[in-house]
Amino acid sequence: MIDTHAHLQGLEGGAEAAIAEAAAAGVERIVCVGDSPELAEEAIGLARSHPGVVATAGLHPHRAELWSDEVAARLDELLADPAVVAVGECGLDYYRERAGRAAQAEAFAGQVALAERHGKPLVIHTREAAEDTLAVLRETTAAVVLHCFSLPEHLDEAVERGWYASFAGNVTYPSATALAAAARRVPAELLLLETDCPYLSPVPFRGKPNRPHYVLETLRAVAALRAVDAAELAAVVEANAARVFALR
Ligand SMILES: [Zn+2]
Repeated sequence: MIDTHAHLQGLEGGAEAAIAEAAAAGVERIVCVGDSPELAEEAIGLARSHPGVVATAGLHPHRAELWSDEVAARLDELLADPAVVAVGECGLDYYRERAGRAAQAEAFAGQVALAERHGKPLVIHTREAAEDTLAVLRETTAAVVLHCFSLPEHLDEAVERGWYASFAGNVTYPSATALAAAARRVPAELLLLETDCPYLSPVPFRGKPNRPHYVLETLRAVAALRAVDAAELAAVVEANAARVFALR
């Protein structure tokens, strides 16, 4: 199984322990998110020393005020590294709005251009910003992964455009009926699963810090929703991840 979105750098007990613990539980592959140049360097370091780990490089919308020509150039260099499989997470967040909207738009546009130039997919963070996010994504030729999928009302368009919907632990929450319906309905070939650890722990770990191997709980929950075997669904998710992130 793969966890397609983990922030290993901040995990309690360290990234190394989390990678080993995940592998022992059967989660042998992890996409480690590097959502600043520094965190991307750390992610690349982890990828170099662990064959099951790959990295992303980008700038989180919360950090969009840091966007500059220098940051863009640094990300451009990092994206040339074969360990880096995607740009992000990037996008728009009007919920927390830790950075101004103009800065967020500029950082997002810059990263879309980087994804297109490197032929690597975008890992998208969007919160309370669906319309503006979709407007940008409709114009890109880059592949799109909607991380921590939160747009059930836009599922049809996402599917039509071939965007991947990556479900996180919140799909297991009893109140998440619209998300659960989307996880049931999304075509198998566009379905991804992730933890977004240390955030959003799935049931029964809700409220505790998330760990990469807890993706197995989300796998079980989504397999039940889709009335398929969990091992079969794991194979589908692995194949999808391998396709979109060009994993070897
Ligand atoms: Zn994340």
